[in-house]
Amino acid sequence: MSKINKESTEFGEKAVTPEEKTGLVRGVFDSVADNYDIMNDLMSMGIHRPWKDTLIRMIRPKAGLNYLDVAGGTGDIAFRIKKKINAQRPTKEGDITLLDLNPNMLSVGRDRAMNTGKGTDFNWVCGNAEYLPLEDESQDVYTIAFGLRNVTHIDTALTEAHRILKPGGRFFCLEFSKVQVPLMDKVYDLYSKNVIPFLGEKIANDRESYQYLIESIRKFPTQELLKRRIESAGFKNCHIRNLSFGIAAIHSASKSH
Ligand code: SAM
Repeated sequence: MSKINKESTEFGEKAVTPEEKTGLVRGVFDSVADNYDIMNDLMSMGIHRPWKDTLIRMIRPKAGLNYLDVAGGTGDIAFRIKKKINAQRPTKEGDITLLDLNPNMLSVGRDRAMNTGKGTDFNWVCGNAEYLPLEDESQDVYTIAFGLRNVTHIDTALTEAHRILKPGGRFFCLEFSKVQVPLMDKVYDLYSKNVIPFLGEKIANDRESYQYLIESIRKFPTQELLKRRIESAGFKNCHIRNLSFGIAAIHSASKSH
């Protein structure tokens, strides 16, 4: 009997129960953690870096605020936020919290912070975007980069983001999205279907995990649909910024005062 019923969800192309999905996603990132940073550069040909820099320019990090980076993985977003704040010679203390489902990803991030002098003053939290272990209205900025498509219940994660933000707090989601240019979508589809699992097999010896990553991109809501779901979680002023023809997009929104 098919597992597709109201209790089922998708893990890439497969129908699974919600509990199975969370466990499978944890397994994927257990498996990719050690090679995550190098594979990210290879698969995206480095383009995830300017995308992340664009996100940071939109955030305009300032000292004295509380930042929460959900699905923070090996630290790319949190480290960039910290770098911007340090450049301002801060006088006010703020907090940067990195939360991730996967302890291995966090451990790679923590080693990276130590080994590259990025500082030790991050809060590293192992947790789920769907149940944030944080007080209501405690954070100024919420970010999630390439994380939301892995979350089992996206709307629950969005509601949690809204709950923990202060009134006036800002939400940012950087995620793969729907290519907006005809033909370009075909080229991108061919690349992602063929090249990425191939690189996963040859470099990380793990075709399956990279196959899942590609399938999860294809299943993720389009720019407009995600915007509606962000608004349904209670956010206002939701804007979409497409990156590289819509291969990725940044959704930004705010919580009302
Ligand atoms: N944000 C980092 C970046 O941009 O490089 C890492 C992105 S990585 C593709 C996705 C991350 O989401 C993984 O570290 C994974 O463990 C995490 N993740 C998946 N599901 C999650 C959930 N429900 N709650 C928190 N983190 C989750």
